[in-house]
Amino acid sequence: MPELPEVETSRRGIEPHIINRKIGDVVIRQYKLRWPIPKSLPSKIKNHKLIQVARRGKYLLLNFDHAGTVIIHLGMSGSLRICTASTPVGKHDHIDFVFSNRKVLRLTDPRKFGCVLWTKQAIEEHKLLSKLGPEPLNDEFNAEYLYAQSRKRNCAIKSFIMNSHVVVGVGNIYASESLFIAGINPKRKAGSLSKLRCEKLVVAIKQILDDAIKQGGTTLRDFTREDGQPGYFAQQLRVYGRADEACSECGKPIKQITQQSRSTFYCTSCQK
Ligand SMILES: [Zn+2]
Repeated sequence: MPELPEVETSRRGIEPHIINRKIGDVVIRQYKLRWPIPKSLPSKIKNHKLIQVARRGKYLLLNFDHAGTVIIHLGMSGSLRICTASTPVGKHDHIDFVFSNRKVLRLTDPRKFGCVLWTKQAIEEHKLLSKLGPEPLNDEFNAEYLYAQSRKRNCAIKSFIMNSHVVVGVGNIYASESLFIAGINPKRKAGSLSKLRCEKLVVAIKQILDDAIKQGGTTLRDFTREDGQPGYFAQQLRVYGRADEACSECGKPIKQITQQSRSTFYCTSCQK
């Protein structure tokens, strides 16, 4: 599933190709995504200029010159790339945004859990975005904030940091990894963390996401690849997917448990 670092890498990869270009055409081949693509979308954005590709959480926001926004979510399996209109269309290529420089922004989504919506609303008031917590890499996500939010919360700290009302973009893999770096047991009650441990966790989350974005930006993705395979980057993971392997810190076997029907990996010795 595309996580925040992949979405941010997509944003950085596609923006230079299409910024300040007008939409010449919109080709919709499949309307039925998680929510239907609005039939009126082409008429809303044709001949309008894209002024920015922004991101909020895992939503990509194509901001147009007439104060409207196309909201894109990649769902479970979506990816975006830059191609041309003559690039052969695959079975799961659901929508093309054709720009005036003849470049095409193409959405591929085999499982169709993504979405493409249009809004003229102030984006922070849109129902999909209005209740989102702060961006993990922004200053407003800090130890004081996490400490204050977690008081009296009895849920496990792993579930807490994966809650998008608390902070956006900490997916299942990054939750396990950041708790390992911070030395925090994923089952610990959120409300039991000291301020110092909140600080460690905030630093770990920022570090792991930042590293993933840097890696995505420098290593792999070519957004103009003709084959259009997503090619998400495989980060060096320290605990995730390493059940029974030796912990890199203490050598004890990494334990795998299930929390809220998601796999969690941690070291019973290093994480308290
Ligand atoms: Zn260990």
